[in-house]
Amino acid sequence: MSDCLFCKIVAGEIPGDMVYEDDKVVAFKDINPKAEVHLLVIPREHIASLNELAPEHDALVAHMMRVIPQLAKSQGLDGGFRTIINTGKGGGQIIFHLHMHLMGGKDLPGFE
Ligand code: AMP
Ligand code: ZN
Repeated sequence: MSDCLFCKIVAGEIPGDMVYEDDKVVAFKDINPKAEVHLLVIPREHIASLNELAPEHDALVAHMMRVIPQLAKSQGLDGGFRTIINTGKGGGQIIFHLHMHLMGGKDLPGFE
């Protein structure tokens, strides 16, 4: 998707504060962190949201989920962490490239 901000970060056309990269997903720091640690974990492939997931994405989604605790550990979040996926405008999604928020540390917002 040529006009997608996160595709541009994946392609290196826009700088991202990268924390993790493999052949399927990348993770970078949220530009407007809502907690002490706030990363975004995204697939390299452009998928707009959870609404666009298809069976062919099952392995990719499972991989994303398994990367999360490794990333949390690498960020020192030994006491736990929070993951959020906003879906659609009504769900607060602003960037329409699937992403999981990984948050933890001080100032963890919501759901307490
Ligand atoms: P969402 O509301 O789930 O779509 O979240 C989009 C997130 O992307 C927000 O938390 C933004 O702060 C973050 N964001 C927007 N632009 C960038 C960027 N260039 N680099 C890193 N994070 C970004
Ligand atoms: Zn994209």
